[in-house]
Amino acid sequence: MPLDYHIHTYRCGHAQGAPGAYLARAQQLDFREIGIADHMPAYHLHPGDPRSRKYAMAMDDLTAYVDEVLRLREQAEGIRVRLGIEADFVPGREAELKDLLSRFPFDYVIGSVHFIGDWCFDDPDYIQKYDDWDMHELYATYFDLVSRAARSGLFDIVGHLDVVKKFGFRPAEDISPILEGVAAALGEAGVCVEVNTAGLRKPVNEMYPGEDLLRLCRNHGVEVTLGSDAHSPTEVGADFDKALAMLRSAGFDRITAFEGREPRFISLEGFEESWFGKTSVR
Ligand code: ZN
Ligand code: FE
Ligand code: FE
Ligand code: ZN
Repeated sequence: MPLDYHIHTYRCGHAQGAPGAYLARAQQLDFREIGIADHMPAYHLHPGDPRSRKYAMAMDDLTAYVDEVLRLREQAEGIRVRLGIEADFVPGREAELKDLLSRFPFDYVIGSVHFIGDWCFDDPDYIQKYDDWDMHELYATYFDLVSRAARSGLFDIVGHLDVVKKFGFRPAEDISPILEGVAAALGEAGVCVEVNTAGLRKPVNEMYPGEDLLRLCRNHGVEVTLGSDAHSPTEVGADFDKALAMLRSAGFDRITAFEGREPRFISLEGFEESWFGKTSVR
């Protein structure tokens, strides 16, 4: 397996296992590279909001998180460990996030939209809120936020691109113009998209993004990477056989890795690597 770039840890409050346990599982599965990308502290919520610790690590924990992953990188043998983070995109709060990101040597940053206004729409505890929305309006609003996240320049990878479908609620209308628009925005911004297998473990029972949207991304020259969104060590690399098959079927022949926020491409044929156009010896 080439890599898994979307791995959480016990620090976020809703996942199990230390980075070392995820690494051990990845080694067992013969991964070449993994990236730990736990939830960035909820910089956009009031510190007293109980949801800050339900969704993400404490602000005080960020330094310890970074140190733990960097230490693991030093110890790991036969596998590269990258320091990632999954940060919420919240319009109007870009400067705060930019400042926070600049303080740590992240290899890559996954930008995810989990909030529409104050509503964390991917939290099953607030699933009844879907009743208040027209689905077409909801999808348009969600994908507009994703396009703004892509254009913000804050992120290397957009996380779970169509997670708004998580619980299986979909508009009756044709949303291809919306999807076309988001794929174009990603392509213009030069932001990478992950094929995230967690959707297969959710009510929607589909990869993020679905194959149609992945094809639109391909048409717009968007690069891709891979993530399990593991919240327990057993989920590392989950359904990657299906993810790789879908990538190939959508016409992709390479995936993207990152070091120090610089992209590197890994060919899906034999996982041959290139770094700025050269064959890598790393
Ligand atoms: Zn999570
Ligand atoms: Fe997420
Ligand atoms: Fe995640
Ligand atoms: Zn996530």
